[in-house]
Amino acid sequence: MLRDLARDFADEEIMPYAAQWEKEGEFPQAAIRKAHDLGLLNCTIPEKYGGAGMSFLDEVIVNEEFGRGDPGFSTITGVTMLACHPVLYGGTEEQKNEYLRRVCDGKYASYCVTEPAAGSDVQGIRTSAVLDGDEYIINGSKMWIGGARYADWFFVLARTGTENGYKSLSGFIVDADSPGVEIGKKEDKMGQRCSDTRGITFTDVRVPKENLVGLKENNGWMDAMVAFDRSRPMLASHAVGNARGAMEEAWKYANERETFGKPIFEHQSISFMLADMSTKIEAARLLTYQAAAAIDNGEEVTLKAAHAKRFAADIGMEVTTDAVQIFGGYGYSEEYPAARRMRGAKIYQIFGGSSQIQRMIISREIQSRLS
Ligand SMILES: Cc1cc2nc3c(=O)[nH]c(=O)nc-3n(C[C@H](O)[C@H](O)[C@H](O)COP(=O)(O)OP(=O)(O)OC[C@H]3O[C@@H](n4cnc5c(N)ncnc54)[C@H](O)[C@@H]3O)c2cc1C
Repeated sequence: MLRDLARDFADEEIMPYAAQWEKEGEFPQAAIRKAHDLGLLNCTIPEKYGGAGMSFLDEVIVNEEFGRGDPGFSTITGVTMLACHPVLYGGTEEQKNEYLRRVCDGKYASYCVTEPAAGSDVQGIRTSAVLDGDEYIINGSKMWIGGARYADWFFVLARTGTENGYKSLSGFIVDADSPGVEIGKKEDKMGQRCSDTRGITFTDVRVPKENLVGLKENNGWMDAMVAFDRSRPMLASHAVGNARGAMEEAWKYANERETFGKPIFEHQSISFMLADMSTKIEAARLLTYQAAAAIDNGEEVTLKAAHAKRFAADIGMEVTTDAVQIFGGYGYSEEYPAARRMRGAKIYQIFGGSSQIQRMIISREIQSRLS
């Protein structure tokens, strides 16, 4: 029922508008509001904070349908949940009651980790937070922050000590309207253009010390990594959904388009390409379900989440590229969704930990189990 609800929502509220959102770079406020009203957003926030209290498996089922609707739409809905994870898992009851509830009331949040000079190397961040009486003073710049312009609050990773590396990192909840917060210009992106992405500068931003996540200094690395582990299955489901959308559209087209007197589906190189797309999507979905179920069962998830994210991102790129091929020249235009899906697929290999970083995690995790 949940899948049907999300699929119908995507059919009716996302797919008819996605090309326009992409063309205009339009943030789809009305559609997000409808998804919120249907209870399809922020699935895993417990009911006691106003959320749906669903499982992570439910979350990836819903989010695959969002990705099938449009990858940009799914990213918009995903970033708020990404920001919530550190609060959900490391925050105090007061923090959860205040900030998760705001999200469940329909507000957005952003996850602010990446900086101009530190992306994959999270431990290289330089934003600082210095305690001054009952407040921390935050200074620094964040880059590529999804939903920054629309967010009500930010999860901000900052350095609370002089030590380099992960040990002196701390997580903060920063209200978006705090004096000293400056939101940068909208990034002119290759794809997922409806998803608003910007830099943020923090200049002497004062944050009450109660907004230190979990009231624990130097726990920020753990806060940020928990968020990555718990959001990677969701990102994988977006990539799977986008790939599935591309395959379904290409399959339909392959039965309509004729060359040499027959539908191109009847050329074996085309039908085999579609068959391979389907196998890849099925395999990526199963890895995604496995990772989501591991979280639900309280099992170790880092390795499973990395497998799912890496594989779904990479097959997502392959499948959408093949879909463009099946559409031929029309695939290279905006007349069909194939080009938008191919551009949208690329980012899954980059954000939330690139495919190279996922391979590092996978090899490290397995190696550590051998020794
Ligand atoms: C559209 C978009 C939205 C984003 N949203 C957010 C957000 O909401 N919040 C947020 O905090 N960040 C966000 N990001 C940032 C994103 O997570 C980073 O771009 C990503 O982590 C990569 O960092 P980088 O761009 O600095 O690339 P770099 O870290 O400079 O990497 C460049 C290349 O080198 C590779 N590489 C790096 N290190 C290694 C290594 N050790 N071994 C092998 N290869 C390596 C990478 O895989 C990549 O291919 C977003 C980025 C984009 C483009």
